[in-house]
Amino acid sequence: MHKYKVPRQEEKCVICDRLRESESLYCKYHRLAYERLKSGYNEWRKRKKNITWSKYLDVVYNNKYTGKWIKEVIEGIRRGKHEGKT
Ligand SMILES: [Zn+2]
Repeated sequence: MHKYKVPRQEEKCVICDRLRESESLYCKYHRLAYERLKSGYNEWRKRKKNITWSKYLDVVYNNKYTGKWIKEVIEGIRRGKHEGKT
């Protein structure tokens, strides 16, 4: 536990310790992963209209080809740390 030197949360990515991109809660890597996640969801909805955001996240998360950054973003979203509207 780091009792001292509390990091300035507002400048850090909500997932890792890298600095945030401006106007984002994420660093550039996690922001990119989040963008990919969102555009993937839009693609999915064209084919599977009833899929919900959280169901989509489950499917992506459980896909063995899903990359580390995207998984971390999904974990963050599940903990309530996401940006924007779904
Ligand atoms: Zn990050």
